[in-house]
Amino acid sequence: MSYLVLARKWRPQTFSDLVGQEHVSQTLKNAIDGGRVAHAFLFTGARGVGKTSSARILAKALNCESGLTVEPCNTCSTCLEITDGNSVDVFEIDGASNTGVDDIRELRDNIKYLPSRSRYKIFIIDEVHMLTTNAFNALLKTLEEPPPHVKFIFATTEPHKVPITILSRCQRFDFKRIALPRIVSRLRFIVDQEGVQVSDEALAVVARKGDGSMRDSLSTLDQVLAFCGNSVSDEDVAALLGVVDRRLIMDGCRSVLEADVKGALGIVAQVDSFGYSMRQFCQELISQFRSISILKAVGDAGDLLELSDAEQGELKALGGQASVQDLQRHLAILLKAEAEMAHAGFPRLILEMALMKMATLAPAIPVQELLARLDSLEKGGALPQRSDAPRPSAPAPRPAPQQHAAPHRPAAAPVAAAPVAAAPQAPAAAAAVQPAPSAFVSGGDLWGSFVQAVKAKKPMLGGALEEVYPVRVAQGVLEIGCLQGSFQLTRLQDPEQINELKSLAQGHFGVPTQIKVVALNGPPTDAAPTLSEKKSLEDAERRAHLRREAEEHPLVAAAVELFDGEISEVQELPQKEGAKS
Ligand SMILES: [Zn+2]
Repeated sequence: MSYLVLARKWRPQTFSDLVGQEHVSQTLKNAIDGGRVAHAFLFTGARGVGKTSSARILAKALNCESGLTVEPCNTCSTCLEITDGNSVDVFEIDGASNTGVDDIRELRDNIKYLPSRSRYKIFIIDEVHMLTTNAFNALLKTLEEPPPHVKFIFATTEPHKVPITILSRCQRFDFKRIALPRIVSRLRFIVDQEGVQVSDEALAVVARKGDGSMRDSLSTLDQVLAFCGNSVSDEDVAALLGVVDRRLIMDGCRSVLEADVKGALGIVAQVDSFGYSMRQFCQELISQFRSISILKAVGDAGDLLELSDAEQGELKALGGQASVQDLQRHLAILLKAEAEMAHAGFPRLILEMALMKMATLAPAIPVQELLARLDSLEKGGALPQRSDAPRPSAPAPRPAPQQHAAPHRPAAAPVAAAPVAAAPQAPAAAAAVQPAPSAFVSGGDLWGSFVQAVKAKKPMLGGALEEVYPVRVAQGVLEIGCLQGSFQLTRLQDPEQINELKSLAQGHFGVPTQIKVVALNGPPTDAAPTLSEKKSLEDAERRAHLRREAEEHPLVAAAVELFDGEISEVQELPQKEGAKS
């Protein structure tokens, strides 16, 4: 008895059989329905995603005896001949073995004659990119003036190797990798038809091995069926395909998430006894925690994860109580362990330590919640009142934003020295706040206040000024540096804009001011940074400072000590009073 491999036995025979390429079949259907069928098609995409199958279905659709149709009958003699590959009017040519110009010449001679039985002569050239340049040139002549009774269908995995002259004469269809759940459901259909007992999990392992290719997935399934017969166990599939048994990975995740240290160590022992690589197991855990985190964060992952619905459901349940932050901390521990395993001689120990750490990890608590807890403890008298601790009613370390608001305000001293017409909003507590030492003695603050004033009146112009360099800012002169080729240079060189700036500068500084715009080849070394550069520098500095403040804050330190925790992230709380700069 001859055995027909699954990929051939279950080759799609209609567009509706074609899995994962709905965009292709829909477009082809529309073209056939609308009677606008191109004379040359190019099917591109990875191997085993349905290009050749589609070419045959299209050939049947064009030649079916029941008429030009999107659903070929698959029963007439023409359809059957095409399925069997012996139609006299459909020529399947392998570009890899018929690369020469002679082959194409023969094809051109053949083209002259009308089809013997069908509507069209159809040439399917597989791996068309393998043709030689001469063969392409010969083909091109035919493509330029194709006889009406001829259709070409080219298929290739490497469209970039097909000359543009050919590409431009074809209607192109890009076939996608097939999503894992789609492959699994097709495999499910096939094994049910074949009467094979196998779990969805095992099918997912098979499909993952196929990596988006239906043909490769079916070949793997052939291999599994040859080994296991009609009853396939998950363990057999895992052993045969050399993947770590998924149960073991799931149990590993479960034991650390349920804080079961003994269980976690037992899993490592099992991994060892099965002879799996510790590092590979760790990588599988990483991939699993990634999936759990994504599911936790987005709910329905859709195409983000290559997981079947059953697997997604299981992982969601597993993630249950853990927060996204906790999952990220688990991931961080695993990633660190994986990196260490690459060099260390005792991977089992590293994995054990990592899993123990994960299983005993205390949940992350937002600092607001911690502070609230401390607050209630204090009010309840359970904690001794500390004279040095500030009242926790102000939840964030206050001094930080106030001190750092200073550079945003027009600083008092330098502005006062200049003849300012319209005084900017005087900072209320400016005297009390130590102004940050300004690095811009050349007049950065004069510049800053001027840009603010321009922005208030002409937002677009002011916005442009934030991106340019104050090369020289002095009484009566404003020299502005713009990068060569920048949008700002074009804009500010416009005489109308210069006049506008002149009058704004005179209004702001109270003296007639000359405006000079210079083109710069790069950021100048001797001028102050642009305001937007300055702002991002200040932001970075402010964040670093906030973190220091938070770490040194007595309340936070107390919380860290009390709960034996660590600071994972410093967030700014929305400011209450109008301290906004
Ligand atoms: Zn037919």
